[in-house]
Amino acid sequence: MNTFDKEHFNVEVKNGCFDLPFELQPETIAIHEAVKVILKGLGEDINREGIKKTPFRVAKALRQGTRGYKQKVKDFVQSALFPETGLDDGEAGGVGGLVVIRDLDHYSYCESCLLPFKVKCHVGYVPSGGRVLGLSKFSRVADVFAKRLQEPQRLAEEICSGLQRWVEPSGVAVVLQCSHPHYDGFVEATVTSGSGGFEDESSELWCEFLSLLKFKLRRVVSVEDWCPFVIENSSKEADSDMVSAVVSILKALGEDPSRKELVSTPTRFLKWMMKFKNVNFEMKLNRFDYKLKERRLSCEMNIQFWSMCEHHLLPFYGVVHIGYFCGDDEHNKAVERSLVESIVKFYGFKLQVQERMTRQIAETLSPQVNGDIIVVAEAEHTCMISRGIEKFGSSTATVAVLGRFSSDLSARTKFLESIQKTD
Ligand SMILES: [Zn+2]
Ligand SMILES: [Zn+2]
Repeated sequence: MNTFDKEHFNVEVKNGCFDLPFELQPETIAIHEAVKVILKGLGEDINREGIKKTPFRVAKALRQGTRGYKQKVKDFVQSALFPETGLDDGEAGGVGGLVVIRDLDHYSYCESCLLPFKVKCHVGYVPSGGRVLGLSKFSRVADVFAKRLQEPQRLAEEICSGLQRWVEPSGVAVVLQCSHPHYDGFVEATVTSGSGGFEDESSELWCEFLSLLKFKLRRVVSVEDWCPFVIENSSKEADSDMVSAVVSILKALGEDPSRKELVSTPTRFLKWMMKFKNVNFEMKLNRFDYKLKERRLSCEMNIQFWSMCEHHLLPFYGVVHIGYFCGDDEHNKAVERSLVESIVKFYGFKLQVQERMTRQIAETLSPQVNGDIIVVAEAEHTCMISRGIEKFGSSTATVAVLGRFSSDLSARTKFLESIQKTD
């Protein structure tokens, strides 16, 4: 029996027709095989314990993350339109007054590079025809379009026209605040779409809607500059087996890989993935010993890093803080920040788990600082938001301690408290 678990071999019967279990569906198998090709191309041993089940996990994450292709707005809306009598259209109070739903958190996948991006969705609409839509359904409708390979402007337009068509209000406005991961943080873009009474963005209705959103519309980034990986020139040719693997993933998700926006997606995705290629050497620094003297706690805080979760092939990113003791004599002085940064970068750009990365940084730096070191990594995991858990704004902290820090609670506490102060 291969990677698919035995217990999943029973075939479910739904509505009188046979449905293959998720694991055995051809789309899952296609992604599963493609991810194996990509992992091999990254120099990984696909039987290594940590990544043995990665192909399946990736298939699950990607298929759940693009489930919108199989959903219809109609199915969510039809049963949730409630009659509500009120004043005539366009007047405040009752049906016809503006309704604003704010801060709906979603994520979507960037069609240009296949990385997940965050979406904060705000909807304004003016009900008509004596009916209102159940409030929870706005998020459902946004999700139908967010769970596809997307680009912010199209996403806004699709949500807007989906609501306009199936709710038939006198107008709908959609504002999306999107953030796409980049090496030094995020690219932020705000996009809008309006229909019916909201078609003209200088109208009073828009003005009313925006004042209820309580933030200023800022369009800093043009949509062409949205995905940072589009601008990067791809000089190196990607491996053709890996390209075909990504093409087969796009097909399995229900997309047309020849759609013009998707043509370069496989090479962009691979260029990004190859930054996490397994290099077969350990980072070793020369050890030097020195006598213990009066030493003080020294810190290097907020060193940014990027890494790739080896369980889901999705990025996690954040900062690393390190603490150690140093003195004033020449063998006991502070380490250069650039050295710490390059070590953090080295262990970040791999298929990783955060706990391991933290330990590796501590172990590599420890000889440089006479063995006493504490390393804290704080990270946001895109797999936490894009695997169906959809936990927004949560972060994970991991700690590794060596030497004096493992026994000295006060040294540990002193360092951990200094992290909070740097926020
Ligand atoms: Zn992108
Ligand atoms: Zn993960």
